[in-house]
Amino acid sequence: MVCNINIEEAYYDDKKVLEDIRLNVKKGDVWAIVGESGAGKTTLARIISGMWRFYPLRFEGEVSIDEDTGLIPQNITDSLDPLFKIREQLLEIESDLDKIKETLRKVGFEDVEYVLDSYPHNLSGGMRQRVLIAAALLKSKIILADEFTSALDSMTKMKVVNLLKELNRTDNITLIFITHDVEMLAFDGKLVVLFDGKIVEMGSIEEIKLAPTHPYTRFLFGSVPKIDMHYKDFRFSEIEAKREYACPFYLNCPKAEEKCKTEQPPLKERNDRFVRCHF
Ligand code: SF4
Repeated sequence: MVCNINIEEAYYDDKKVLEDIRLNVKKGDVWAIVGESGAGKTTLARIISGMWRFYPLRFEGEVSIDEDTGLIPQNITDSLDPLFKIREQLLEIESDLDKIKETLRKVGFEDVEYVLDSYPHNLSGGMRQRVLIAAALLKSKIILADEFTSALDSMTKMKVVNLLKELNRTDNITLIFITHDVEMLAFDGKLVVLFDGKIVEMGSIEEIKLAPTHPYTRFLFGSVPKIDMHYKDFRFSEIEAKREYACPFYLNCPKAEEKCKTEQPPLKERNDRFVRCHF
């Protein structure tokens, strides 16, 4: 196990943002954590990366991770220092220049000297993204990618996704994606669907894509025209959680019954997955 997460409750300021989150990530696993904004994804990313210490965040439970995670950040523009060449920035992470060059080749650069001698503004968005992936790989074999494709066009995004798939296959890199973008779900791996800070469905990406079970997951996957097999151009709709009901999806749920108002649904194992629903 490279990452064992057992969060009973997490609070941002005094607001509860996560509850009952249990994930066991093994070496070489690929996990995608999806949900709308406000679902708790960013808090979870901060806890996994250890960055939670810099925020008014506290949690009850245990999080054990074998090594510091390599974070691929959301904002590619601000994540590289515009005043320093890539060489200087990567040497701050790893002092072995040969290892840096090898890692840059791994992420698809042929002319590594050009990249090393460039300032960030000399590189395209896709190239900067690959530099950030290289930086994450130099730090760790556990990569946490937090909405990292949001600034990329569709074609660049797919190239980056394919690159990460390849690194997972060849180098047994463990990948954890935090995303609201279903194009990112072009992996074999595990999927965690968050709603209002709780896991509502968890299982294999492929199985859940084929047959989502929780009404919220079904809503997510059915709420857009299926343009192709990968739900291209899919975007999650915004659904407000209503905490005055025991199940916060109650008002939007086509299967809701009286019980859902007053009894919290537990996360139950069903065949090939876990689902948080009474029915
Ligand atoms: S517990 Fe009830 S309201 Fe909540 S998702 Fe299931 S059926 Fe819908």
